[in-house]
Amino acid sequence: MRKRIKKTILKVKPYVGGKPIEEVKREMGLKDVIKLASNENPYGPSPKVLQAIRAAAKDLNRYPDGGCFYLRQALAKKLRVKPAQLIFGNGSDELIILAIRAFVEEGEEVVMAKPSFLVYSIASRIAGAKIRAVPLKDFRYDLAGMRRVITKKTKIVFLGNPDNPSGYYIPQKELKQFIRSLPKEVLVFIDEAYFEYVRPKDYGNSLDLLKTFKNVFLTRTFSKMYGLAGLRVGYGVGSLDLVDILNRIREPFNVNSLAQVGALACLKDQGYYRKVAQTIEKERRYVYRSLERLGVPYRESYTNFILVQVNNGTKVARALLKKGVIVRDMAFWGLKKYIRVSIGKHLENRKFIQELEKIL
Ligand code: PMP
Repeated sequence: MRKRIKKTILKVKPYVGGKPIEEVKREMGLKDVIKLASNENPYGPSPKVLQAIRAAAKDLNRYPDGGCFYLRQALAKKLRVKPAQLIFGNGSDELIILAIRAFVEEGEEVVMAKPSFLVYSIASRIAGAKIRAVPLKDFRYDLAGMRRVITKKTKIVFLGNPDNPSGYYIPQKELKQFIRSLPKEVLVFIDEAYFEYVRPKDYGNSLDLLKTFKNVFLTRTFSKMYGLAGLRVGYGVGSLDLVDILNRIREPFNVNSLAQVGALACLKDQGYYRKVAQTIEKERRYVYRSLERLGVPYRESYTNFILVQVNNGTKVARALLKKGVIVRDMAFWGLKKYIRVSIGKHLENRKFIQELEKIL
């Protein structure tokens, strides 16, 4: 069987996600386990969202609306784009996969940062693409370096903005300059999964870029601040042409009915989510202060996660796991001295700090 599998796929290493809470409870024989490993919203979706999902559950015998009509109308209005400029996905992960499927032939090239979000490279490998990964410079994108590796064969440039795991964003002025410097045929994939958490003014509004650049595709998600990671729904915004192409190659019912209802309800309860974002920001500062007190270096982040520098990330992550605190070991990303910790509720963050202090 193995011999008959596509060669490109044999080289693919599977995505390793944060361990689920239940699995750690079983494995470690622990009662209390907290998960700070997958950048989830620890407060969960708003009560109104849950209510809408509960009400919609009675129609689960029906197929979802393949065109996401109500969600599309509401989101188009909020973003001030045409409804046909939107495409929805089974998480924004799916939009990454669709873009690669639409553009990249075997042997063609994609450009990304190193380290960067893993799905860019995994999906590219599956397609048989050549990956040009440009190392971060002091944890920031080296846009000049990325420009230099672009060739006639480059189909997509992936920009996590802010990226995971760096937590850093590209100021819009630099982003614009970079896009302007590229051949118009290269698709600029701007992944804004953490968009709702970014505060600095120079982050700008990337929707403006769509007016100037037809080769920009922007994605966001309901998994992070909106707290619907388990339902899987994200969206992309781009030119009518581009979205038309991506729509042709997606599965007909790629966004399930509860996800559509949940996402729509999120848009209607902005007050709840403003509070979530504010609380996360406050808690991120609490974690910063606590790490400073312990003398533990960290990277400033514009998201709901932080890279924390320890001597041996694998060891520290394992020791924390034994204490019921799930964080991410960054060795797989080539950051052996780091762990990545998501911002949780206050007591979770406190537990993380207390256990880290004991371990160090
Ligand atoms: N982009 C980045 C940078 C991420 O960190 C994630 C979540 N791990 C995603 C995209 C995908 O999120 P989802 O598929 O849940 O929308």
